[in-house]
Amino acid sequence: MSGDPTADRDAVVVGGGVAGLSAAVFTARQGLDTLVVDAGESILRRNAHLENFPGFPLGVDARRLLDLLAEQAETAGADRLDARVTRVAVVDSGDGDAGGDDPDDARFAVTTDGGDRVRTRHVVAATKNEVGYLDGIEGVGVLDRGKAHVDVDERGRTGVDGLYAAGRLAEKPHQAAVCAGHGAEVAVALLEDDDAPFYHDWVAPEGYFTDRGREVPPGCEEINADERREREAASLDATRERFAEPHPDPQETHPSLEE
Ligand SMILES: Cc1cc2nc3c(=O)[nH]c(=O)nc-3n(C[C@H](O)[C@H](O)[C@H](O)COP(=O)(O)OP(=O)(O)OC[C@H]3O[C@@H](n4cnc5c(N)ncnc54)[C@H](O)[C@@H]3O)c2cc1C
Repeated sequence: MSGDPTADRDAVVVGGGVAGLSAAVFTARQGLDTLVVDAGESILRRNAHLENFPGFPLGVDARRLLDLLAEQAETAGADRLDARVTRVAVVDSGDGDAGGDDPDDARFAVTTDGGDRVRTRHVVAATKNEVGYLDGIEGVGVLDRGKAHVDVDERGRTGVDGLYAAGRLAEKPHQAAVCAGHGAEVAVALLEDDDAPFYHDWVAPEGYFTDRGREVPPGCEEINADERREREAASLDATRERFAEPHPDPQETHPSLEE
């Protein structure tokens, strides 16, 4: 991984599928120190050819899309740890998890199967139907619909301040685009709840706000024509390179069908 896995964070995203990675793009782009912890098993890896994700008229290899989302989160500044989260505990809950010297604002301690322990102000849970690591947190409602989901409000908030759920875990329809969109929406809710100045994450043409006598709102950016051309050229190069060859990973399937 990049960065120190045990460093204190503003946000830990549990699950690096489409929902979690989309959430991380938004929190990291707004400057929140974000760590994605992922066990590497997005169910989207089983898709044969993804034909309904916006922006790919002839479809896209789902494993390629996951790689691109992970790269986008990293480019935005998020760190990644390949591990399984075994526990999220509320700091200072009296269960011995506070650690003694937590920063004033760390609300959670996230523990992994690799023995790492990360303290963080926010957690976004995006683990599809895995909820065991949330056991014992008062205020988190788990819904049994045959598979487990987390009870959230319309913006992905659980009953615990700072703890959110996104994507399929939050009972969103079993569609990649919907879960990705929900990850983004939950991250925006987190940013708004964080009380940080935030308006929208927009890149606007130079003068869009300022030529109308407005400050560039927090979260927004104005770029001039040269900068726009540079960014477009870089994105064209990257896109050509990323799509030059078929994805090397083998097609995955349901575990019960594997030999
Ligand atoms: C065969 C198949 C084909 C599909 N085809 C399509 C399609 O064509 N179009 C479409 O829109 N949708 C399709 N889907 C559905 C789509 O894959 C899901 O709806 C979407 O991936 C859900 O996103 P998510 O982020 O909520 O969950 P996921 O993408 O499953 O991500 C969850 C992540 O959480 C991680 N995780 C779980 N527990 C832990 C833990 N304790 N610690 C750390 N990480 C953890 C997992 O490793 C995983 O990476 C298909 C699904 C299947 C099975």
